[in-house]
Amino acid sequence: MIKLLWLSGITCNANTHSFLNYPFIEQFLNDFEFIYHPVLDSSYTLQEIVSNEIECDVLLIEGSISPEFQRADVSIEDIIRKYAPKVQKIVTVGTCATFGGIFSQSDYKDVTGLHFDKEQKNQKFENLFDKTISISGCPIHPEILVNTLYAIKGDIALRLDNFLRPKEFYAYTVHNGCVRNEYFEYKVDAHQFGELEGCMFYDHGCQAPFTHASCNKILWNEVNSKTRVGLPCFGCTEPTFPKANLFTTKKNMGVPENLPLGVGKRVYLTLAGITKAFKIPRLEKKLLDD
Ligand code: SF4
Ligand code: SF4
Repeated sequence: MIKLLWLSGITCNANTHSFLNYPFIEQFLNDFEFIYHPVLDSSYTLQEIVSNEIECDVLLIEGSISPEFQRADVSIEDIIRKYAPKVQKIVTVGTCATFGGIFSQSDYKDVTGLHFDKEQKNQKFENLFDKTISISGCPIHPEILVNTLYAIKGDIALRLDNFLRPKEFYAYTVHNGCVRNEYFEYKVDAHQFGELEGCMFYDHGCQAPFTHASCNKILWNEVNSKTRVGLPCFGCTEPTFPKANLFTTKKNMGVPENLPLGVGKRVYLTLAGITKAFKIPRLEKKLLDD
């Protein structure tokens, strides 16, 4: 049985909540043992974890890290240093544990993720870099965390990107698989949140074309995603999260400031010129009202 230690840094526990929504959680708990989890029944208390050296295979870290943050009166960094050499893998669970996330703006000193301070690599735990896998997201997608843990259990090597995220889940963007792609191509934006029609890139700040995640391929609760229900992606898996001024598209002379990944401005303008020349009644708003 693979033994897991789930440590909480500075966190709102949203990743724990999301993880508990995994549809087959009972099966998961039959296959893995939590030596400690802050919410689930565990084999040991946190006090026992920090005072002893309990056998463990995977260290999961939820929440940002700061040298002045403690659990059970012990610095979170010291708990990590104690368990990291013993474990086979470390998994950063969520954008805070990976990049610092929203708590970078808190009053704690030197708040970062385990290996990254936003996009910058941080040297503090560099010796652990080779055994870490990052599962970013605010919160994490439960299936991506669980599938990663099963890959570790099955000794399946995962290919990782520059931020140590498994490429199986983060190699493409959230835009990939969105049911609104046709509206994107013909530049038809939705005019109100929650509408069934339209793309939200042109006016409503959808960041999916430059956000790495698989929200539109592995659906949330096996049912849906933000962009499918008419809410723009706000880029929660990226080091730049959280950004200000969400839900509006910043433009210069009518051209979105951030273009889809890999699309240059000249290409964008050429394609925009062509598609704007067409008006496709089927894709225009109010079609559903007719
Ligand atoms: S709503 Fe967002 S994810 Fe969907 S097609 Fe438009 S830009 Fe892509
Ligand atoms: S759609 Fe975007 S904001 Fe929503 S969970 Fe996926 S990556 Fe995060």
